[in-house]
Formats: sequence, C-alpha cells, structure tokens
Amino acid sequence: MLREIITFPDPRLKQQAREIQEPDQKIQNLAQDMAETMYENQGIGLAAPQVGELLSLITVDISGPENRDSLLVLLNPRIVQFEGRTQTEEACLSLPSFKTYVQRAQQLTVQGLDLEGKGVELEADGLLAICLQHEIDHLKGITLVEHASVLKRSMYQKKVKKWAQTA
Ligand code: ZN
Repeated sequence: MLREIITFPDPRLKQQAREIQEPDQKIQNLAQDMAETMYENQGIGLAAPQVGELLSLITVDISGPENRDSLLVLLNPRIVQFEGRTQTEEACLSLPSFKTYVQRAQQLTVQGLDLEGKGVELEADGLLAICLQHEIDHLKGITLVEHASVLKRSMYQKKVKKWAQTA
C-alpha cells in the first residue's frame, strides 16, 4: 500500500524515532509499504518518519526504481564505525525542489536488525554509505535542511510558505 510522504515543515520530520522491539506484522507491513512508496516516488531511500511513523526503520535500494534488486530493510540501524570524507549534492523526498551539498563519511559500518529480528552488520561505501547516513539522520529528526546554510534554509522556508498559500 502506498503511503503519503510528509514534507517540510511537518514537525514529525524533526522528531526522534523510537526503537523497534520486535518486527511484528505491523512492522512487516510498514516496511513493505515503505519500499513500494520509495520506488513509486523514484527514491533510493526512505525512513519511517517520512511516512509519519516515528519508528526506527529504513528502506534503501541504490539500484533504483528501474532495477529494484538491492532492497535493504534495516530496523534500529546505527553507525558503529566510519572513516573518510565525501561531499555530494543530496535531495530528499520530504523536501521538494531542495538540494544541498552535505559532508558525509565515505565508508561506514552499520549495525541493526533485519525483518526477522536478527542482528545484521554491513559495510558500505560510496552512494550506499551516503544514502544510509541520510536515512539514519531522518531517524534522529535531521533532514537536509539542517545541513544547509542558514540563508539557504530560510529561502526554502519562504518558498514552501508561498506554495502553501497558492495551494
Ligand atoms: Zn530524506
């Protein structure tokens, strides 16, 4: 089932997600909905708070909606080791028409749970590492807006306000 993606400045995007104790049916359904919603919106990553669920759950597939062959679902993901620096321009499904350069670690190790509740650890670099950091940020209530300059952020705020008035 497709879910609605909430967008800036929805206050839920600034909240901390809760850890998942057990991947029950509700979580399985949510993960499936999130993957579907991510592909439908041409995304390569989605975090549960973006569909209004304040739970520590992310979906990532850097093969993109055309291929859909590298889906990764992680519960309670956390970065346990990182190194290197990289900077790329990022976009976000919750921030229409917004792009900004973000400094990230180049390589990292992430631990979390899979949908069966089993512990997983994975190493990532390049686009996958960037995407994981972006989605894990969402779980802490951080979006690209927080990574941007004050000027850029306030310009975007004005733009979004204008859209709301003309909608
Ligand atoms: Zn995002």
